[in-house]
Amino acid sequence: MESDQVGCLLCGDKLDMNYGNPSGGTVFTSRGNYGSTLFDPSPFANTEHLKVVVCDTCLKLKAEQGVIQHFAVVKYEEPIYKVATWKPGD
Ligand SMILES: [Zn+2]
Repeated sequence: MESDQVGCLLCGDKLDMNYGNPSGGTVFTSRGNYGSTLFDPSPFANTEHLKVVVCDTCLKLKAEQGVIQHFAVVKYEEPIYKVATWKPGD
């Protein structure tokens, strides 16, 4: 399989891509958001996103600088469903 390379967003170092994943780096994607003056596609189309790679060295450096937020789901609420006969017009 041919190996592609991609550059780190921050330092530009080239990382080998293996099956869509960078060796020694992390892929970040964004679907854009309201407020951006550069990338704010329609949320209803859901057909495009941006993708960048950051090498592990840069990621560690930025984490040490405290500029990376880590999110984790700490609790899932069980969904509560309401089922009723559908009556058009109600
Ligand atoms: Zn880097």
